[in-house]
Order: sequence, then C-alpha cells, then structure tokens
Amino acid sequence: MAWREVKLPALPTTVIGSYPRPKWLREFIKGLKAGRYKEKHAKEAFDDAVVAVVRDHEVAGVDIPSDGEMRRDEMVEYFAERIEGFKFYGPVRVWGNHYFRKPAVVKPLKYRGPMTVDEFLFLRSVAKAEVVKVTITGPYTIADWSFNEYYESKEELAFELARIINREIKALEEAGALYVQVDEPALTTHPDEMEWAVQAINKAVEGVNIKVGLHVCYSDYRVLKPYYDELRVSQFALEFANRGFRDLAVIKGLSKELGFGVIDVHNRRVETPEEVAKAIRKVMRYVEPECLYINPDCGLKLLPRDVARAKLKAMVEGTKIVRKELARRKGLEEVVLRKDLTCP
Ligand SMILES: [Zn+2]
Repeated sequence: MAWREVKLPALPTTVIGSYPRPKWLREFIKGLKAGRYKEKHAKEAFDDAVVAVVRDHEVAGVDIPSDGEMRRDEMVEYFAERIEGFKFYGPVRVWGNHYFRKPAVVKPLKYRGPMTVDEFLFLRSVAKAEVVKVTITGPYTIADWSFNEYYESKEELAFELARIINREIKALEEAGALYVQVDEPALTTHPDEMEWAVQAINKAVEGVNIKVGLHVCYSDYRVLKPYYDELRVSQFALEFANRGFRDLAVIKGLSKELGFGVIDVHNRRVETPEEVAKAIRKVMRYVEPECLYINPDCGLKLLPRDVARAKLKAMVEGTKIVRKELARRKGLEEVVLRKDLTCP
C-alpha cells in the first residue's frame, strides 16, 4: 500500500507504545512458561489482549492507538530473539528487583524476516482508527543494551542493526503501515557516541517513505538538540510532564513535529484535563499547533491498568479543551498525517 494523506483532528492524540498487560494475560504467560498452556493457545491470548488494549485506547478517545506491545516482554529482548546472531546468557539486574535478559551478539547478525509485520496487521484489523502506531527499538539502544562479542566496535554493531531495522521498517511500509516510531531511550547516554548514533538511526530510516517518529525519553535533551535537523525523522516524541514542563525551551528552534509528553508515566496521580490543556498552551509558545501531537511521556506499561486508562482519558479531554480554542482562534480543526522531515 502506498503512502496516503490521512486527515486527523488538530493536535492528534496518541500513545508512545507499551500499555499494562491485563492481569489475566500475565497469569497466562506464567502458565505458558511453566508449561501449563500450549504455544498454540498463545496467539489467541495475545490477540485478545491487543483487542482489549485497542478498546481502552479507543474508549479514552486516543486518535492513533498502538497494540500496547502486548507480545513483547522487553523492548530489546523482543528484537534480539528475532534477529540471527544473538544469544542470551541469563538475566542481569537493571534496577531494584527488575531483571533484564541481556542479549549477546556472538556471530554476524542476519535479518530472519519480519518481526513486527504480523503485529501491525493484527492491530490494523482490530482498530477503528485509520492510522495506528508501530514501535521499533532503534539500533543504538539495541547495541547499547547488548554485549558485543563479535563486532570490532559498538559502532559497527549499531550499523549492522540499522541495516536490519531498515529492512523491517520497509517491510512494514510494504504491508501498509503509515506511522512507525523508532524508540531510542539510550540515545543520549554516551554523548561522545552521538555523532555515529545519529548516523545509525538515519541508516535505519534510509529510503523509508512513511511517517517516522523518534522517541527519546528520560534523557538530557541538550545532547539531542544539536541533531534535531540532522535526524531524518519527521517527529520527535519527547517527555516533559516528568520535568514539570520546566525545560520546554530545549525545543526552541525545532523545525519538526513534536510528540509532546503531557502525562507522567512514573506517577500514579491522574492528571486533570485542565493541567493537560495548560501544558499544551505552554508548549505552543515554541511549536506551531500544526506541528504538535499529544502523547504520554513514555509507555504506560508500569502503571496499573485503570490508572493508565484514566490518564489517557485526561490527556484526550485536556486536548479537546485546546482544540476548541484553536478552532475558535485560528479556525484550525484538522491536520494531515505528514511524513515530511520539517514542519511547518
Ligand atoms: Zn520512553
């Protein structure tokens, strides 16, 4: 399917990606791992969970839903398990009682075939929305969170991953996806590696003809700022609620769309619609409303599901307040889905 222009309400609302797994799915996964259920039951369970998540997004009024990454235990592991050349040694502790099965690259990496296309096709088949979001972990973050036991350097590994991710994004494009988000939470953690990390991301999106967003979170955006123009993506989805919207000036001069994080995913207190509206009015000092998407800071995965649901609802209600003002003041009611590298 080719790119097409889709109309969206002004200030389109979306999610970053992950969403709490329903309690029953977590129980099912435990049972599956313990051998109480068969692999053939898993597809049905994950599909049902995606339907539930999309329904939550739709009831909240989110314009661009995701599948909540229901099928992914962890954002690096999921891809490492599907790319040839990785091996898992065992869990390493990342923080508190959270463990991460850190993958190791032990031989040349090879693309085995689509990793997220079936996820996308199922999501599209159950979502009412014309546009859905598919997330892919970026080459730098996969390289940074893996042991490199094969390539000469981390840089070489990241570029190999970029070639593979490029094929994956093109497979999604071929399948009809319109909007892919590359997740790079690790991007700014080693400022001395930024130059080639940015080139690796550009390699991953080379020749792609659909909308690509880049999500970077809990980062020092001053490290990212010099690369706003150079990164060949059409949108940056960044986190601001967690910072109390204090450092908005860091997006001054951004000539791309902003996915504006208005919901704090690390706090169970549910924002009010008025707080959301206030934050959106504030960011419009720096970004034209035509170039603004509204989303939570990050994935909602770690929140209780009822809190995640309530936060999305507040996000949408708050956005609607500002939409009314925009319609009245500027006559702006709709925007089109854009893949342009600059905005406006
Ligand atoms: Zn994030």
